[in-house]
Amino acid sequence: MEVFALTLLFAAALVASMLIKFWLATRQMRHVAEHRAVVPSAFAASISLPAHQKAADYTLAKGRFGLLTMAFGATVLVGWTLLGGLDLLNTAVRDAVQPAWGDMAYQLALLAAFAVLGSLLDLPFELYSTFRIEQRFGFNRMTWKLYLADMLKGTVVGAIIGLPLAALILWIMGAAGSLWWLWAWGAWVGFNVLILVLYPTVIAPLFNKFEPLADESLKARVQALMARCGFAAKGLFVMDGSKRSAHANAYFTGFGAAKRVVFFDTLLNKLSPSEVEAVLAHELGHFKHKHVTKRMVAMFAMSLAGFALLGWLTSQSWFYTALGVQPSMTAANDALALLLFLLVTPVFGFFVSPMLAQLSRRHEFEADAYACEQTSGADLAAALLKLHEDNAATLTPDPLYVRFYYSHPPASERLAALASLGTGPAAAPA
Ligand SMILES: [Zn+2]
Repeated sequence: MEVFALTLLFAAALVASMLIKFWLATRQMRHVAEHRAVVPSAFAASISLPAHQKAADYTLAKGRFGLLTMAFGATVLVGWTLLGGLDLLNTAVRDAVQPAWGDMAYQLALLAAFAVLGSLLDLPFELYSTFRIEQRFGFNRMTWKLYLADMLKGTVVGAIIGLPLAALILWIMGAAGSLWWLWAWGAWVGFNVLILVLYPTVIAPLFNKFEPLADESLKARVQALMARCGFAAKGLFVMDGSKRSAHANAYFTGFGAAKRVVFFDTLLNKLSPSEVEAVLAHELGHFKHKHVTKRMVAMFAMSLAGFALLGWLTSQSWFYTALGVQPSMTAANDALALLLFLLVTPVFGFFVSPMLAQLSRRHEFEADAYACEQTSGADLAAALLKLHEDNAATLTPDPLYVRFYYSHPPASERLAALASLGTGPAAAPA
């Protein structure tokens, strides 16, 4: 009974999410295509027609490719689960590894085999996206050599970090009794905090060069802003983002006193010093409003719920059989349960994503308002426009598509909000 109910629930959720995604994507593409001929009046003075049309074409190219990727992803998911792909892989790995090497080696081998196969299946899509779409619109700076080096490094780093974590979680699942999910969640939280510490100093430098910000006048400007906002950071760095892509960005990493500010070299090349300052003030706004902490707490709470759910599901045989795999009577099934869970939860998670996107957009408005208090809203508006144009982001998205997917409000809404706040610090301290 439960077997049938779960199979049906999964299939229904998958079909429903696919229909909604397809509907939203076609709405978005139609909306962008319909507005391709004319720059929206609010932007007529600042965005040229060719730039507007490039953004439309880029959005349409990504949209069409997104539909293909989506259909492929759903096919692969059904292939792994209901059509028995994971069962096949699991049986092969288990028979080959478990008798001679035991449960742990078998389970790690299964996770590794799944990860490798999964990335091989995704590879053609990634290649097409980078070397065709991004290339065609002039964003790609990646060479084949760099792509291969990245892939190699990524695999090694993934194995060094992922295998011990997986071994720890699997060990807890096997040894910690019925409350294993609580301990496993604790290990997961600890691991995330560790990565947060290691990422800026150990992991990111493997892929990019970070140099201290050399421009003295910009440095003085940024430091004055941070002092004004009561914000301490360990250093200001410039990252060679131009090595891979022309898209521009700025971000903070690390936490506590070890925070770093990282500017992409592409950002510094495109924006004036006062615009860079306004973008940074926006990022500081996220810190002032504790968005980062809130997001982390929300993530940990959701993962606790996930682990609790998994704790219950692993002991139900229908969880496996309903999703196309046969649990073993003689070997551990924990890795199998983890994989099934990771495959299936995004299908249900899709239905919550509009709420998370909504929260994120609210945070963006709050950060913009903070930047407006600390620097000039006019500079922030100018920076947003430049970044929009340089990233070929569409100015005319479908409103419903925005509600569902956009983590950042569309430019028109952000600029309108900035305009309503006035265009500069209300009372700049002398
Ligand atoms: Zn933001």
